[in-house]
This record gives sequence, structure tokens and C-alpha cells, in this order.
Amino acid sequence: MAIKAIEAVYPPGPAHFVGDGFRVHNFIPSRHGLDMHRMTPFIMMDYGAKFHFPPSDSLKGVGVHPHRGFETVTIAYKGRVAHHDSAGGGGIIGEGDVQWMTAASGVLHKEYHEESFSKTGGDFQMVQLWVNLPAKDKMSAPKYQAIENASIPKVPVENGYVEVIAGEFQGTKGKASTFTPVHLFNAHLQSGAKAEFSFPAAYNTCLIVVEGEIRINDADELVPVDHFVLFENEGETIHIEATEHSKILILSGEPIREPIASHGPFVMNTRQEIMQAFHDFEAGKFGTLN
Ligand code: MN
Repeated sequence: MAIKAIEAVYPPGPAHFVGDGFRVHNFIPSRHGLDMHRMTPFIMMDYGAKFHFPPSDSLKGVGVHPHRGFETVTIAYKGRVAHHDSAGGGGIIGEGDVQWMTAASGVLHKEYHEESFSKTGGDFQMVQLWVNLPAKDKMSAPKYQAIENASIPKVPVENGYVEVIAGEFQGTKGKASTFTPVHLFNAHLQSGAKAEFSFPAAYNTCLIVVEGEIRINDADELVPVDHFVLFENEGETIHIEATEHSKILILSGEPIREPIASHGPFVMNTRQEIMQAFHDFEAGKFGTLN
């Protein structure tokens, strides 16, 4: 199989706060070359680089807000997030856990620093990813997958292991169910470890170095922590060598080739459907959440 070459490497841009609890660097869709059509099915990625929060008596986070038409995937690397939604889902996302929320026809939810983490403060690092749904599933029932780290399959590689959150790696299937083909892995590699990943050429593929520093496809230039790498839609195989103890989030998904109409927390196929989402939200059809 041919090598899948790097298309671009993005250092983190300026950080902004989502609510008062999530300090993030947006990569998808705001960075040049990472718009929704290029990155489909991945239509939004906020990366919260490691950031120290001091102790706080108030819970920092984002208050009640709606979503329709896609899934939100939250991966906690440091710190803990508490979450509640109007479909009755909720829980605590701890270090290494993943929350896969299918908003689909619509939910209200809120996301906060978990109470005991808030009180003690500490390092916080997370990713929030939005995965689009195909038109036929956008109005399906909401659901919620709480994926604790202990339940995520871990595939050993030389001097490391790969957590298969979704999709498949070396014959091991991931924990999350998805509507379209999506591979989502956390690779944990010790310094000097090498691993190889293969995805169909047409899949949109990217990674983010969450910890450490890596070499990709034997290049001279290294990719440092907090950097995002976009791959070309040619070739299949990616070689990764950790030049430090590293953690890497790897994403590859089959493009959903449908029109995208997006406004704030709603991502649909047409403008008409966006108007309907606002109408339904205002009419209270997303349920209730205090
Ligand atoms: Mn949200």
C-alpha cells in the first residue's frame, strides 16, 4: 500500500473560551483548508490544550444549549467533565473516557467541570469533535454512549498500545457504534516506538499530537505537541514514530457527500431545515433541562 502523505501541519491558533470552562483551539472548520466539506464527516474540532485551572467554588462550563443533526464526541485527557442532556443522558467523563452523544433530532445539554475537580483545580485537556450524520439519520432518536476508558479495546503495538474508540485497528473493533464508517484511535507510544496505520485513500484523515512529539512517514521535520496534521486523500499508510513518550488522537472517516447547511448548534442539509430547527427549539420541542 502507498504512503499517505501529509497535506498540511497546523500549529494551534489563538485560544478562545467556550462558556467559561473550556479553553480551546479550533481546528475544524475555522482553519484554512479544514472546512466542513474538506473534513466531512468531521465537521467541528475544538482542542483544549493542557491548561491549569485554579480551584473554584463555581462550576465552570457551558450552560444549557441545543444540538441537532450530528453527534458530539468528547474525549477527556486531563480533568473531568460532568454532562447532562434532555434525553436523560448524563455522567462524568474522566481521564481517558469518551462520551459519544448522538444529538440527531435534537437534545438540550450542558457541560461543566465536574464538582470535585472544580474544587481542587488542576490540569484540564480535552477534545470535542462533531461527527456529521447522513440526511437519513439526522432526525433519528437521540442516544448517548458513555465509554469508560476501561471498556475501550487496547491493541498492543511495539512499545505502546492503540485504544480503538471507534472503527477498527488490526482486526479489533472499537467500542462506539457509528452511523457511517469512522475510525477514532488514541495511540499511546513510548519514545522510540513505531506504529503503522492504514485507511482507505478517500477517507478524510487527520491527527493531533496530544502529548509528546512524533515523526511521520520518516520526515526530517518533527510534529510537536498540540499540532494538527491533515493527510492527503491519496495513499493509505501512515508511519508514526514517537520521538518522545506520546499520545496521538487519530481520526479517519468516510466522507458524507451531501449538502451542508450549518448555523451555530445545528448542522442540517438545507437552510429550510435550519429554520425548522430554530422553530422547533423555540417551540420547546428539544425537551427540558434545568
Ligand atoms: Mn454542546
